[in-house]
Amino acid sequence: MCCSYVSRMPKPGETIEGHKFEVGFGGKGANQCIMAAKLGATTAMIARVGDDTFGSSTIENFKENGVDISKVMVTSNISTGVAPIIVNDEGENSIVIVSGANKLLSIDDVKAAGNMMSNAKVVACQLEIPLESVYAALKTAKEFGAKTILNTAPANKDLDVSIFKFVDILCLNETETEIMTGLAVSNVDEAKKSACILAEKGPEYVLITLGKQGAVIAGKDGKPPVHVEGVSVKAVDTTGAGDAFVGSIAYFMAKHPQLLFAEIVKRSCHVAAVSVCRKGTQKSYPSAEDLPKDLF
Ligand code: ADP
Repeated sequence: MCCSYVSRMPKPGETIEGHKFEVGFGGKGANQCIMAAKLGATTAMIARVGDDTFGSSTIENFKENGVDISKVMVTSNISTGVAPIIVNDEGENSIVIVSGANKLLSIDDVKAAGNMMSNAKVVACQLEIPLESVYAALKTAKEFGAKTILNTAPANKDLDVSIFKFVDILCLNETETEIMTGLAVSNVDEAKKSACILAEKGPEYVLITLGKQGAVIAGKDGKPPVHVEGVSVKAVDTTGAGDAFVGSIAYFMAKHPQLLFAEIVKRSCHVAAVSVCRKGTQKSYPSAEDLPKDLF
């Protein structure tokens, strides 16, 4: 949400001077939702924010991007979830997450949004709210026949993998994969191996993102895993690339449910690659008009 740009990361106990500071919007769910909205999806958020300036500006930002905020609830006596970020000259980032009101998004809140989910083609969940609420959202979405995406970010060792049977797309990056499987992911082959292991646990597809190397897909159909190459660009800030990617996956799944999943992933890699060429998180996300027409 607040981003400091520095030449290099500070060491513990060290104070360094940054060369720029910016305030943007965030939250993984919010980023993914805004990405899908910018591509042209009809979007809605189920969320809680605090009764503070971050909360009101977050709601304003959703409105400006055309996101339905009828299930974004304002909560007293707690801060809005925030994520101060540091980005160095290499475009690498460090992030601290303070959950605030996100922690209070309850199972009842999710159930109260059942009507909203009954109209959804795709429901995307992340792990910035209580796990029980994530499980309730995935089950409710499936009951209503929506496709579900679970982005296991930030990684949480307590995640109950039995929920994967309610997940169509399980999307995670290399670090999240390592935490979930205990296996290193430092190249495409290792990612394929982990994707196959996770695909046995119930999701329709496992999607492991590999930064500039793109992503690998493994399906529970047992077919050989597929590597979708990343688009070669000069990255200036990779913050929020994963969210640009997941938001794009949600958009393309809703818009073109008949497309091969590998094609959806390829198009999403394209959108995410455009986002890393600009600084910022949501600010870096391209709108439909900034992208080639044949992507749609
Ligand atoms: P996260 O931000 O969750 O760690 P990744 O870094 O794996 O996620 O990035 C998500 C997606 O964004 C990748 O699958 C890729 O499509 C795209 N991407 C990320 N970094 C780059 C890059 N340097 N060049 C091109 N595409 C990138």
